[in-house]
Amino acid sequence: MTFQNSEHFNRLCIHTISNKPWSMGKIIENYAQAGVKGISVWRDRLADKSPVQLGEEIRKAEIEIVSLVRGGFFPGKTEAERNAAIDENRLIIDEAAGLGAPMLVLVCGAVPGQAIRQSLDQIEKGLATILPCAEKNGVKLVIEPLHPMYADSRSAIATMKTANDFAEKFDSPFLGVAVDVFHVWWDPDLEAEIKRCGDNGKLMAFHICDWKQDMEDMLNDRGLMGEGIIRIGEIRCWMENSGFNGFHEVEIFSNRWWNTDQNYFLQKIKKAYLQI
Ligand code: ZN
Repeated sequence: MTFQNSEHFNRLCIHTISNKPWSMGKIIENYAQAGVKGISVWRDRLADKSPVQLGEEIRKAEIEIVSLVRGGFFPGKTEAERNAAIDENRLIIDEAAGLGAPMLVLVCGAVPGQAIRQSLDQIEKGLATILPCAEKNGVKLVIEPLHPMYADSRSAIATMKTANDFAEKFDSPFLGVAVDVFHVWWDPDLEAEIKRCGDNGKLMAFHICDWKQDMEDMLNDRGLMGEGIIRIGEIRCWMENSGFNGFHEVEIFSNRWWNTDQNYFLQKIKKAYLQI
């Protein structure tokens, strides 16, 4: 491995969901053995361990916790539903703090059939309510715009522009944006919006995978980097030219890869990552 490669390799982070078939113990052990330096923890991994305990185990293996995934889902048909979402987000911020995760990724939510503008208003109210809690706990809230194919139920925030509008409106060092290539690669304004985000100091996370043209499932058939059509290297350059120097987080939901040997998949991730 050349020096340049090892420097690049040290920025590899993997989301626990990518190796869904593995137990958390196996993930920690295998990432440490593979030299993976960063991990983003999905909340399902907190089911049988306290966040504090899990955080200690991860740090003991010399792996850095990059983020907790995920909070959000603020819109709701009734006020009671929206208040419940706010309570849930307060709880998730506590979990992130306990885990020692500096960031909480937000999938902001949408209500099927409800006007997008109304969902955005509800998201704004939700963010305004939980932001003080995040600031108090030292946890950054990171808005992840999702591909518009999920605008019905998962995220009324579908573009970097909308995410940037929110980040600018709140203008808190504890509210930023996550760029996931799967969700935003198609956007003709992507380069300009990444630059805008960087200029505002809000570029907080970078998620990578690939978009397969023969996708069989809009949720669980993401590609490994190189299997699809996203110009990941180009987007990475835009990120870095805009001042981003954080981890490159591999986030792959894939029935196909989950059905293969996970050690083999981890080796494929490493190899594909180094070729970006
Ligand atoms: Zn993502």
